[in-house]
Amino acid sequence: MGKNYIVTGGSRGIGKAIVEKLAADGNSVVFNYNASNTAADEIVKNLSKETNIIKAFKADVSDFEQAKEFIENARAAFGDVIDGLVNNAGITRDAPLAMMEQKNWDDLINVNLTGYFNVTRNAVMDLVKSCGAIVNITSVSGISGMAGQTNYCASKHGIVGFTRALCKELRKVRVNAVAPGFIESDMTAKLTDEYLKEMKKQIPLKRLGKPEEVAELVAFLLSEKAGYITGQVFTIDGGMTA
Ligand code: NAP
Repeated sequence: MGKNYIVTGGSRGIGKAIVEKLAADGNSVVFNYNASNTAADEIVKNLSKETNIIKAFKADVSDFEQAKEFIENARAAFGDVIDGLVNNAGITRDAPLAMMEQKNWDDLINVNLTGYFNVTRNAVMDLVKSCGAIVNITSVSGISGMAGQTNYCASKHGIVGFTRALCKELRKVRVNAVAPGFIESDMTAKLTDEYLKEMKKQIPLKRLGKPEEVAELVAFLLSEKAGYITGQVFTIDGGMTA
């Protein structure tokens, strides 16, 4: 039987692929977005079937009250327990530290790290009741350092700590993290061709990953097939960090 899953930042990129994979597997999915309402509406239209619930809500994860309302809306849409949460919504604000504006630090931490707290804090008791699962999208920048990304690396390392601590606190709720390398999305489309060419030299598989490849791993970790896996970080990076 299908489960009830929440995905943050489901309107584009990796989040969109996760929504599509979970829906294709017969689950109900509620996701949020911050600005892309047209893209979100299109996803809902394409995936909606009579058997499963697919809904999107505008909610800025960096705002605790909006995150709370999003979870309340999701709960009401399912009319049942929440079985799983994927914290995915994230941004980059790259700059060398010596040139980084305080706003770029604050905005990024508020979305990438506080946003994970805001959503999880509001959903956690539902997940305790359902003995559900959480998957937090971190990054290879949550495992090693990347120049020009002190803010992003700090947030992604923070998510790894958040994941490990929460798994010990919740016990019967499985909490894991997925750390993608370079994945095709709007986030990496901002990088120059020259930079990406250099990065590909460091990737044994010599290509960027696809959002659908990340979605497969996330769906597995949410599922009962991963029933004895918790507190772990899974890298999916074409071998870049091997
Ligand atoms: P993306 O294509 O830029 O999509 C970002 C998603 O997050 C969009 O759905 C966006 O909604 C949403 N979002 C951003 N700020 C938000 C906010 N304040 N409140 C609610 N939703 C918000 O990014 P992506 O590449 O798919 O990245 C997804 C996640 O994977 C991020 O956590 C990122 O750090 C991580 N990651 C990505 C890569 C990569 O190579 N792409 C690698 C490692 C980790 P709108 O459409 O409304 O803006």
